Amino acid sequence: MLDNTNGADRTRLLTWARALAILCLCLPSAFPALGQDAPRVVEAFGPFKIIGNIYYVGDKGNAVYLITTPEGHILFDTGYPETAPIVRQSVEKLGFQMRDIKIMINGHAHVDHVGGHALVKEMTGATIVASELDAPVIESGARRGDFRGPRANPWSPAKVDRIIRDGETVSLGGVTLTAHHTPGHTLGNLSWTTIIDDGGRRLNVTIMPSIGVNEGVRVFNNPANPTIAEQYRSTFRKLKTLPCDVFLSPHGRHYGLEEKYARLQAAAAQNPFIDPAGCRKYVEDAEARFMKQLEDERRAAR
Ligand SMILES: [Zn+2]
Repeated sequence: MLDNTNGADRTRLLTWARALAILCLCLPSAFPALGQDAPRVVEAFGPFKIIGNIYYVGDKGNAVYLITTPEGHILFDTGYPETAPIVRQSVEKLGFQMRDIKIMINGHAHVDHVGGHALVKEMTGATIVASELDAPVIESGARRGDFRGPRANPWSPAKVDRIIRDGETVSLGGVTLTAHHTPGHTLGNLSWTTIIDDGGRRLNVTIMPSIGVNEGVRVFNNPANPTIAEQYRSTFRKLKTLPCDVFLSPHGRHYGLEEKYARLQAAAAQNPFIDPAGCRKYVEDAEARFMKQLEDERRAAR
């Protein structure tokens, strides 16, 4: 019983208690917590032709686009590792071949968009193109390069074959896609633009970036990414200048995929994916949410 403890025992107990407290305080920095990603949910969806030479071959939550050309194809994103078999099934169901995919591009290096890169690379042998700042994340399977820190569930790394910079292009079989550096959500986040021929009509396609702020990420005074607020601001400015008739992004929920798909199936008079107003609203809404978060964090820091 503690009441009967003599002086020497009490001193020993206090020393142990102090040592334990110091250990507890030190542990978090000795073993930093690994970042948790959202649970992986993968459900088949489509596949279907969106417009022109662009097809949806992703899972329901994570978009993957096949952009076809007479000389082979370009693939945007690969989803989770678990999405890769869906991509294969979708591409083949549409009558195309995986081995004809020559180039793999991406939006940003989070597991739900590039987690399937290593598997799709094995299936296709395609050239992997990525931004300079997101390439280390892809090449390490999220063990490094993510400003949020290493992830708790890393995926198979994939070697990046070509680094693409702001304004540079990827071309194949008469199709050209331009990369736009739009950081914030990740350091090397990219948006892509191209022009398609829709029955004689030229349309600007923009694959918008993910521009939400991830759960737990601070936009004010973030020591892990000190310029994050300026990154977001410059990204919003740039996105407003991109011509956007056909509005796409890495997640279908950003642009009403399911509802637009249903309208397309019902033979809508105009292709519902032509949505310049939706494109503008996507950027404006994200900017408003960002500004509110920035203001809230600023106020809380006063
Ligand atoms: Zn993301």
